[in-house]
Amino acid sequence: MAESMEDENREGLEYQSVQTLKGVGQVVAEKLKRLEIYNIQDVLFHLPMRYEDRTSVTALGSLRLGQQVLVEGVIDHSEVKFMGRGRRSLLCYLSDNTGAIVLRFFHFNKAQQNNLSNGVRLRCFGETRRGTNRLEMVHPEYQVIQQQDAGIEQSLTPVYPKTEGVHQTLLKKLSDQVLNTINQGRLIDWLPEQVKQKYQFPDLATALSSVHRPHKDEDVSALNECRSKAQQRLLFEELLAHQLSLLQSRLDIKQTTAEKLSIDAVGHQGFIAQLAFKLTSAQQKVIAEIFADLEKPHPMLRLVQGDVGSGKTVVAAAAARVAVDSGFQFALMAPTEILAEQHHSNFKQWFGEDRCLLLTGKDKGRKRAEKREQISTGRCGIIIGTHALFQDDIEFKKLVLLVVDEQHRFGVHQRLALREKGKKFGVVPHQLIMTATPIPRSLAMTAYADLDYSVIDQLPAGRKPVTTVVVSTSRRDEVIQRIKKACEHGEQAYWVCTLVEESEFLQCQAAEVAAEQLAAELRNVSVGLVHGRMKAEEKQSVIRRFKENEIDLLVATTVIEVGVDVPNASLMVIENAERLGLAQLHQLRGRVGRGGKQSACVLMYQSPLSGPGKQRLGILRETNDGFKVAEKDLELRGPGEVLGTRQTGLMQMRIADIVRDEKWFPEVKKTAIYITRHHPEAVKPIIRRWLGKADRFVNV
Ligand code: ADP
Ligand code: MG
Repeated sequence: MAESMEDENREGLEYQSVQTLKGVGQVVAEKLKRLEIYNIQDVLFHLPMRYEDRTSVTALGSLRLGQQVLVEGVIDHSEVKFMGRGRRSLLCYLSDNTGAIVLRFFHFNKAQQNNLSNGVRLRCFGETRRGTNRLEMVHPEYQVIQQQDAGIEQSLTPVYPKTEGVHQTLLKKLSDQVLNTINQGRLIDWLPEQVKQKYQFPDLATALSSVHRPHKDEDVSALNECRSKAQQRLLFEELLAHQLSLLQSRLDIKQTTAEKLSIDAVGHQGFIAQLAFKLTSAQQKVIAEIFADLEKPHPMLRLVQGDVGSGKTVVAAAAARVAVDSGFQFALMAPTEILAEQHHSNFKQWFGEDRCLLLTGKDKGRKRAEKREQISTGRCGIIIGTHALFQDDIEFKKLVLLVVDEQHRFGVHQRLALREKGKKFGVVPHQLIMTATPIPRSLAMTAYADLDYSVIDQLPAGRKPVTTVVVSTSRRDEVIQRIKKACEHGEQAYWVCTLVEESEFLQCQAAEVAAEQLAAELRNVSVGLVHGRMKAEEKQSVIRRFKENEIDLLVATTVIEVGVDVPNASLMVIENAERLGLAQLHQLRGRVGRGGKQSACVLMYQSPLSGPGKQRLGILRETNDGFKVAEKDLELRGPGEVLGTRQTGLMQMRIADIVRDEKWFPEVKKTAIYITRHHPEAVKPIIRRWLGKADRFVNV
């Protein structure tokens, strides 16, 4: 018996399936997988995202707007109101001896309607909103109760991230069961004593209990801002897990071999000499950093950050030349077809048509098979494409250098996946990741701790900063006049349509309507349209015509955000600019100001726009510096927008927040090194505990 306990101890909770819990059969276990809950430990580390205080009832007479509270009262009267266009709502007038409130339901059935009848005592939890005459709660959670103050909650209510078919009650029941078992000492606390003492952190079991079931006297707002000691300990450990995982992945790669390339100065000089411009010293510096990496026997893993227009492509090309001149293959992966096409046409100019190949999703059938063969036989050296490059049946002969452009579109997990793909080629290729997203340094060091980092911190000479104005749509006519004037002077313009909905279809439709309207308003201006739902050939041909100045005004959805490079375009109009993040607006603005002309960006907003909204757009008016924009964006919107990780999941941490918790970074870094040196046995368990699947991904 003692022995089997020992066994379990050694193996830990992570080896015990969630199905060993009461109430979890196969069906529920399947659903829990969607929350990445597989074992008992996962249940423990599925942490509440916020808390509600349902430990006391608030008197109706003392309610204020916007409060989230528990209230109790008796229904005086219920009625169904018709609100036009066939919509109805059920209104219940609830009162206690201090005041009254209206409960409003848009969706309700007959049974519900019958339940909510006069004289019934209800307890409701919800948020107070402004109603017609008095405060309302829309769709509150409610419960019919028999007597006043019956069975009220004793601890603060945790609210867990949930998924379809998995409700709060289930998550609570599961965590209750597991919390009971951890008190029997079955959870290993991998954080060394010294670390806990240094920061005065509670032990793991205590921290978890208090985070899952905070005492009713704890301050809810402090908890919701993660300020409790228990939360601080857990978020510290989570940041630590990320740091350890990235360090680990970096160590792995530095122990792998890569093709060592030799840089021939003559070849490089020859390449530079044929360019139509002189490299900036920032470009030269970054090229030198890359060359130094390529000469090492380990794979390069470098992030190159450079604001839009800083000239990242030619830097990649200089590295590509080394690879192909040494008889190997080079691949460049772009996030969109348009961008891939554009790179392809640049590379053709620099290296000649025969040496370059373009592979995108639109290559099908025989054409694709032919290209596949050129890649697998090594007949083609410079391969440019979208993620189509990394489908399973594409085999490279001898890929030594891989460049991923506009990395934020891909996300960290894809980056790791690519690295894994690399192993298929025998040697892991050198990797260069290029991004225009100005990543504040502190973030870069955390999110990209596994990468070396270069910055092209200079724009080519002769660029004039773009003038940005912020105007209401009520001044649309003036904007149209401005476009007319610019086009009369032989300049070109963009008109970008944005939509808040995530529907690409609606976006494209909006762009189509805008293009028609603008064509009618601007009789002598030739208007083109490009959006995500057009066929690749169509898109390409429109952009080509824009480049060749056959089109004066290009109406587009945000597909043109990356890559389109038309130096003659000097005016950028963005409709409903308030809908986009600052970083994205900055990217769009980067499409102009690429030639020597004075360029302008008009941010049109739909009035009325709130004070903070105007202030946000105002930041773009004040600065052209991508780093400053990014920092502000980060302050105002959070890191997901800056890094594009909201979609990819890296920054979706369980409890930590890389912006809010930035002050911990230096300590986390120190601790990561300390643990790697002095407690190496803790590294894997900590990573596994916090990153679970993500980590499995790194180690496949
Ligand atoms: P980004 O960094 O945004 O990817 P690109 O590589 O597309 O920028 O370069 C933007 C434009 O600037 C291109 O037309 C490119 O040919 C040009 N360019 C790049 N480097 C220089 C330079 N040193 N001097 C002048 N123009 C340059
Ligand atoms: Mg680019």
